[in-house]
Amino acid sequence: MLVRRLMAGTGWKMNIRVAEVAGYAARLRAALDVTDVASVDVFVLPPFTSLAAAAGAFAGSPVSIGGQNMHWEEQGAWTGEVSAPMLLDAGCRYVELAHSERLQHFGETYERVRAKVDRALASGLTPIVCLGETAQEKAAGRSDDVLAWQAATALAGQPAARVADVVLAYEPRWAIGSSDAAAPDYVAARHTRLRALLRERYGAGVAARTRILYGGSVTPDNGPDLVALDDVDGLFVGRAAWNPDGFARIVGQVAAAARAKAAKVAVD
Ligand code: PEP
Repeated sequence: MLVRRLMAGTGWKMNIRVAEVAGYAARLRAALDVTDVASVDVFVLPPFTSLAAAAGAFAGSPVSIGGQNMHWEEQGAWTGEVSAPMLLDAGCRYVELAHSERLQHFGETYERVRAKVDRALASGLTPIVCLGETAQEKAAGRSDDVLAWQAATALAGQPAARVADVVLAYEPRWAIGSSDAAAPDYVAARHTRLRALLRERYGAGVAARTRILYGGSVTPDNGPDLVALDDVDGLFVGRAAWNPDGFARIVGQVAAAARAKAAKVAVD
């Protein structure tokens, strides 16, 4: 069985201005210096105006940076937008797409996300594509159908060879910014179904390599149980990671899970 490289990341949303970046980065770097995080991909997604400061502050550290959104075209008359080449200019490795706040407040659609995934991959950025059902869809028993449609739409037209370069992030909309994360057995069922879908559509190799993160009210208290799940390949954190010490704890928990998963594979 293949061991997927686990990930631990945070989106800062509309928080952490330029003057605050150095302090956050210094505290996170100091904590990660004394943690074995070599087996984890760590990422931070600052607001656009803090990207340059974050690129400098995290240079030479295990932390990569990314954007929270981008446009699907490379350039042009798109006032207020930021393109993939611009994110690369700013030092980004990742771009987050389809966060529920973009769907809810800014009219983002999975058809547009598909075009953005295409552009991100063609430009050399790793897209982190959020998927998630609403509370109403969950109550109607439609979670897996919704996730399947979102994934199929975002990945439409991608050749199988490129799909594993996309990171999926299961973020149930009802669990984002809430008081509780989804229960581990509920998360396990959704991730297992998503991986089965990747297997049916793109084959066993792609399904085995594609990373599927969990996000939604992750904290240092619930992180270990969530990242221990077989089909959960990392944690995507909001509020609990806006304090660098909280994020460092969660990164450490993901690193411990990576070691445990590697050891389990070695025994199997
Ligand atoms: C998010 O907004 O993607 C998120 C996971 O936020 P929180 O952890 O605060 O629920």
